Amino acid sequence: MAAEVLRNANICVDLFDSMPSVGRKFLMAGKGGMNITHSEEIDHFISRYSTGKQFLEPYILDFTPNKLREWLSDLGIETFVGSSGRVFPIEMKAAPLLRLWLHRLRSMGVKFYMRHKWVGWSIDNKITLTFSTSNGAINNEYDAVLLALGGASWPKLGSTGEWTSVLIDNGVTFSPFKSSNCGFDATLSEYFTNKYAGHPLKPVTLSFINSSGCCFTKQGELMFTQNGIEGGLMYGFSHLLTDHIEQFGFATIYLDLLPHLSLTDMETRLGKSQGKLSFTNYLRKQLGLDAMKTALLWETFSQTDLSSKKMLCAAIKNLPLKLLSSRPIAEAISSSGGINFEALDENLMIKSIPGVFCAGEMLNWDAPTGGYLLTACFSTGRAAALGVLKRFNSFSQIE
Ligand SMILES: Cc1cc2nc3c(=O)[nH]c(=O)nc-3n(C[C@H](O)[C@H](O)[C@H](O)COP(=O)(O)OP(=O)(O)OC[C@H]3O[C@@H](n4cnc5c(N)ncnc54)[C@H](O)[C@@H]3O)c2cc1C
Repeated sequence: MAAEVLRNANICVDLFDSMPSVGRKFLMAGKGGMNITHSEEIDHFISRYSTGKQFLEPYILDFTPNKLREWLSDLGIETFVGSSGRVFPIEMKAAPLLRLWLHRLRSMGVKFYMRHKWVGWSIDNKITLTFSTSNGAINNEYDAVLLALGGASWPKLGSTGEWTSVLIDNGVTFSPFKSSNCGFDATLSEYFTNKYAGHPLKPVTLSFINSSGCCFTKQGELMFTQNGIEGGLMYGFSHLLTDHIEQFGFATIYLDLLPHLSLTDMETRLGKSQGKLSFTNYLRKQLGLDAMKTALLWETFSQTDLSSKKMLCAAIKNLPLKLLSSRPIAEAISSSGGINFEALDENLMIKSIPGVFCAGEMLNWDAPTGGYLLTACFSTGRAAALGVLKRFNSFSQIE
């Protein structure tokens, strides 16, 4: 995005990436259906950024989800709004978008250099970047540099976070990367995970009470894994849960396994006797509770806990699940942490290194899935490029 803004202003752009091709994580984001932005009202949209809301606001207001959709349409990619309000390209995938976009950037004159890993620099009047390549180290000199090196999740796609030491050595303040939009290890038996890993748990309502007593509740879908639990609903809570686990060593979430039924409805339905039905069949017939949800009850409660209908209903409405740790950052959809906003000016230039700008997930903001991640990357990419242009304009006025 930054390259496009700069080329449109007739600035020469060299684009380097350590990987053999660009946009590997972008392509991965398109695998299960590329959720590129969200259609909700802009104030709500901005409120989703748990870290960095205030800092990001002007950049997102300048390049809103609607403007992003117009930009995509101009590129030849039409989008649609899904039932959840999420916005997707009609083809759902990232590959056609990336193909068209790279074609446009190349024809505009952006020069691409792959397998060029930025490893350091020397900064004088100009900025000399050092790249490690298969032919050894090379140095290139620039008037401005825009870093968009990503966070630290899925490092095999290129964003390894190895660059942090170079910036920290230059006095840039940085918050350590942590897993975000991630799964969690939970106390579930091997029997349960062997049988139900990969199965969705839906619909459920998840509640979490933080250490200040605030209760957060949301309905959605979860998925059991070999180690615990993940899925869209979990991702939305991940920053709260990660912080809590860091502080207390574990976190307990509460699941309502039948959110569409009230306690009274359930008790009435269980008024009918079990007769010759097995417990699982009885719960399925009377409440619509599937075998996996019943198995989850047995994971958590003893026969005595479930001995009365009142206790059984309460258990189904409020099933505790203990989470022990977040899954490693290499498995997370995104990372929180990164360059602190205090280190940057309003044009996303590093205050202590004039001429060097930053954008994307390498900055210290965090958001749930829902198209918020890519939108912030596009907006900050554009804003940082406009910052480069302002800097060049101010020089030409002096000259
Ligand atoms: C499985 C998955 C699904 C996702 N789904 C969605 C989704 O549906 N919607 C959404 O909004 N977001 C989604 N995301 C998140 C989104 O893809 C990222 O937030 C976004 O790609 C970050 O963009 P970026 O440009 O900041 O960094 P990246 O896309 O990580 O790009 C950084 C680039 O910098 C390069 N690089 C790093 N270090 C160096 C170096 N030293 N020298 C040279 N090059 C270097 C890397 O090779 C990489 O190409 C998903 C992520 C994953 C992993």
